[in-house]
Amino acid sequence: MKQDFLHSSAPFYAMLFMLVWILGERVVAWKMKAHIGSWRETLGNIQCGLGQILLEIPFKALLILPYILIEDRFSLFQIPSNVWVLIGSFILTDALHYWYHRLHHESSLLWKIHLVHHQPEEFNTSVGLRLPWLHKLTVFPFYLAQAILGVPVEIFVVTVSFHAVLQLWNHTELIKGHWGFLNYFIVTPSHHRVHHGKNPQYVNRNYAAIFSVWDYIFGTFTPEKEKVAYGIVQHIQTMNLYHSNFNMVNKLKSLSPLPNKEHFLAVLSITVGMLVMYLATGQHGEWMYGLILVFFVLLFPLPKI
Ligand SMILES: [Zn+2]
Repeated sequence: MKQDFLHSSAPFYAMLFMLVWILGERVVAWKMKAHIGSWRETLGNIQCGLGQILLEIPFKALLILPYILIEDRFSLFQIPSNVWVLIGSFILTDALHYWYHRLHHESSLLWKIHLVHHQPEEFNTSVGLRLPWLHKLTVFPFYLAQAILGVPVEIFVVTVSFHAVLQLWNHTELIKGHWGFLNYFIVTPSHHRVHHGKNPQYVNRNYAAIFSVWDYIFGTFTPEKEKVAYGIVQHIQTMNLYHSNFNMVNKLKSLSPLPNKEHFLAVLSITVGMLVMYLATGQHGEWMYGLILVFFVLLFPLPKI
């Protein structure tokens, strides 16, 4: 049953996997006596990531259903599910990622959403988890190209999830240097550190996620030479997740001056969104991990600078 993807617990396991990875990087850094950033910013990144994963629950119903509808009724081709289609879908996902990612930097409206991922001024694996809360809503329309082609939804879900988790390893300072000829094919941590730099020569460069070839083809590759200064050029004066994720609606600032109130509103809006979607779609299977996530989001006070 194609709708079974709505019940999938994959995001929950992906989240656990990411948390273990972040912790693993901390242990390696401690062994190497390397400073990879404060716990404060790391916890803020994890908190942002948990909020985004939590929002995947209602968003998934909103987004996967149109995918299934288009693939079923309006696709150009009847494509079978096999390993070659899986590989092809992965490469197509990476190509689509290049363009939606580039547009999220070059369009001022989409940048207001994407900048959340670029706010941290310290670089470690947790930055990979810090995805904007509205991320799924603005990237998904690009992926509908796969539905129009006729890529089966079960293939699409596997490739998109795998593609997202694979990008985590590029967010680290522990893996140094250039990788010779592999640089031309694979996005390395060095390649992606440049993407997070606010040094003038690094801004809006290296958009690729897995295959660096897109940056070479479309002329956006810059190698890492000067030490990277992380963050965004026009720093927005907040690491408060509610303000960061909804910075395109400035009035929210005056509506919710107290951090605790904002924190409460953030959790409330996520929970209500999840509730409404689940009541509307009759999908209750993920309540358990949804509640676990709400608990984690509530556990830490929002970091404020
Ligand atoms: Zn980016």
